[in-house]
Amino acid sequence: PTGNLTILGLGAMGSAIAARLRDTGYTTTVWNRTAARTLPHTAAGSRAAATVPDAADAGDIVITVLLDHASVREHLEPAAPHLRGKVVVNLTTTTPGEARDTAAWAAAHGIAYLDGAIMAVPSMIGTPEARLLYSGDENAYAIAEPALAVLGAAEFTGTDAGVASLKDMALLAAMDLMLLGQLQAVAMMRTVGVPAADTAGEVEAWLTAMLPHGKAVAAIVDGGAYDTGGQSVDFDRRGLASIITASREQGVSAALLEPHERLLAELSAAGHGGDDWPRIIDRLTIPR
Ligand code: NDP
Repeated sequence: PTGNLTILGLGAMGSAIAARLRDTGYTTTVWNRTAARTLPHTAAGSRAAATVPDAADAGDIVITVLLDHASVREHLEPAAPHLRGKVVVNLTTTTPGEARDTAAWAAAHGIAYLDGAIMAVPSMIGTPEARLLYSGDENAYAIAEPALAVLGAAEFTGTDAGVASLKDMALLAAMDLMLLGQLQAVAMMRTVGVPAADTAGEVEAWLTAMLPHGKAVAAIVDGGAYDTGGQSVDFDRRGLASIITASREQGVSAALLEPHERLLAELSAAGHGGDDWPRIIDRLTIPR
């Protein structure tokens, strides 16, 4: 492959990305705040730059893998004249709002900006299991796509720079609630001496069987009618009340379940007790 790539940030993820790009034949220049971290990379054939402007000058595509939004802006802003006309791919985890903010800043400085989200851990970089989402400047994606494709499965999610991180956060939200749910089950079963590992196995089998049902729930939401005759808000409320009571009977907190109960009660009070339970999405959607 041809192209000079600059990688800003050589933590666990930046190092994996720099190594993969180098190993696939790209000319790589690296910069890291703590300069000692560049040593394994220069030993392996990368060039190290002493400053961010020098690093920016060396690359046609500049990939940032820093800690957070603040560190990205701290180092990109003073280097703006050196980034003009180049492609910047920001793989640092940010919120959608932060991504859009940096996209606006980049546009004002003549920088073609892509905001990325990495659905992988460093050891997965370079394998098809790594999924990387990108949004923002379409031309920037067209230019960077061959290099980005060697990092893992690359997906362009649209020209709104916030969408890649939004999807990242949405998937993480689903994971967060799922794993908390698993811990609720573990806490309940531990009260009768069942080891966490046993309950984790049971939860995995149960959720694997139930997960395809999510598509039916999605179809109700997309249909927008909430009258398909499936499980209702009130039906769901009764079931949840039993789960909460069972937890408390065993001396387990229902703190994670109570917000769900509250949202269903609000729906019922608003006259939606007979609607399909996915109507709860109305209570999750705050008018802006
Ligand atoms: P590390 O903690 O391993 O590395 C952090 C990097 O950021 C280091 O290069 C560090 O430099 C640099 N840094 C921190 N603060 C500043 C600052 N103020 N100015 C300049 N550089 C700074 O983190 P990761 O490499 O794991 O993560 C990097 C990004 O990748 C994060 O946004 C993370 O959310 C994201 N990511 C990571 C994943 C993972 O599994 N690791 C998965 C998906 C996304 P120094 O060496 O000088 O401290």
